Amino acid sequence: MSFRASVLTLYPEMFPGPLGVSLAGRALERGDAVIETVAIRDFGIGRHRLVDDTPSGGGPGMVMRADVLAAAIDHAAPAGDTRPRLLMSPRGRPLTQARVRQLAEGEGAIILCGRFEGVDERVIEGRSLEEVSIGDYVLSGGEIAALVLLDAVIRLLPGVMGNAASGEWESFEGALLEHPQYTRPAEWEGRTIPKVLTSGDHGAVERWRREAAERITAERRPDLLTG
Ligand code: SAH
Repeated sequence: MSFRASVLTLYPEMFPGPLGVSLAGRALERGDAVIETVAIRDFGIGRHRLVDDTPSGGGPGMVMRADVLAAAIDHAAPAGDTRPRLLMSPRGRPLTQARVRQLAEGEGAIILCGRFEGVDERVIEGRSLEEVSIGDYVLSGGEIAALVLLDAVIRLLPGVMGNAASGEWESFEGALLEHPQYTRPAEWEGRTIPKVLTSGDHGAVERWRREAAERITAERRPDLLTG
């Protein structure tokens, strides 16, 4: 069974974009993941296919219409489609590796990409959309946020990562950030590799990595240790 994402967007040409290469690109080629796009414009109103209107109550910018978005969502996810419905939104719950892993274990997702000032609140309620943020900053549209989410999900799908173990020790998988990494050459610009890493003592390597991970986490992200 493959992971199927339906992305609702005004800019379908942005997909798969950077996900067309490397790990994700090969997963898409094999069909382990499928990214379909739904052009919101196709559900626009009238000859000009209008998708937005001015904000009720006044103010700058435009708001995406609830009726247009609902028609696009109902087309992408007919009754009985149980995939989670996500709205990329700076107001959403910040995306975590735990949520990414949950999504990767499911059948896929409907992903709505906002533009302009955002979307009419009523479609969020009426179609039970889960608002997801990729961080505390504002993008010009939800497409890049959707690409970020999909990249994080696709690399976790079975068979996608070359070395399955490389997913285990990474930042956020435990409560710790990752330890420092080194590779050849043994000396570079006068800098050497910590001796323990070339000692061949696997127990000592494990202990060094854990201690380094704990130190870096305490310094940079103490919230991960107490959270
Ligand atoms: N006026 C809105 C911002 C709209 S930005 C506000 O102040 O909350 C336009 C669109 O970009 C949003 O609808 C959303 O889909 C997307 N977007 C912007 N920042 C994002 C973020 N941090 N995470 C996820 N999506 C984001």
